[in-house]
Amino acid sequence: MNDLTFGADLNRLRGVIHRFPNSSNEICLTFNDGPSGYSTSRILDCLGKHEVHATFFCTGLQAQENPDLLRDILSAGHQVGSHSMTHPHFHQSPVPLVYREMSRSRTVLEQIGKSPVRLFRAPYGSFSWEVRPIGILIGMPYLIGWDIAPKAECAEEAADFILKETTPGSIILLRDGAADLETELSAQISRSAAQVIEIAIPKLLDKGFVFKTVGEQLARPNH
Ligand SMILES: [Zn+2]
Repeated sequence: MNDLTFGADLNRLRGVIHRFPNSSNEICLTFNDGPSGYSTSRILDCLGKHEVHATFFCTGLQAQENPDLLRDILSAGHQVGSHSMTHPHFHQSPVPLVYREMSRSRTVLEQIGKSPVRLFRAPYGSFSWEVRPIGILIGMPYLIGWDIAPKAECAEEAADFILKETTPGSIILLRDGAADLETELSAQISRSAAQVIEIAIPKLLDKGFVFKTVGEQLARPNH
């Protein structure tokens, strides 16, 4: 067992879903850190053009700053999950703070979006041990990771990576904003996510993949 598989095994024990096995050709597209004035509208336009639904893991803070964008995401038929309130690293946070981050973000997202929030993705994927019991306690029991996260800075390379690595059941991670970075870099990353999906979505559809929200995948029997 190397460090990487050890980390993945630990996360499985903590109840984190990184992909949906037994999928025939379904995949999930997910966005972290939004909603963002730099990219959310453009991402929504692209998803709408291809009639593709995605899942947005939003922070409470970003939702408070961009409430109309959060409502735009939901009214276009996409799903919203929580990505904490202020995006701290949970492995470096005391348990009461983790509780407040999860609980407050859920309340804020539900108040603005008027839609139940049942999914949670920890900032930086830092699913510390207390996240699962807290999630169950507050009604946000589904912990969602990912298996495809392009690192490339250039949109073409990131899209190539996604096309090469995505398999049935994959959960693809892109960033709709960047919670922990300076504004200009955050804007750059956001714009890049929009460019990446503009290239990748038509090609993934050509390969026969079907886009589902995380909630749709969870609702499948035997997921
Ligand atoms: Zn994040």
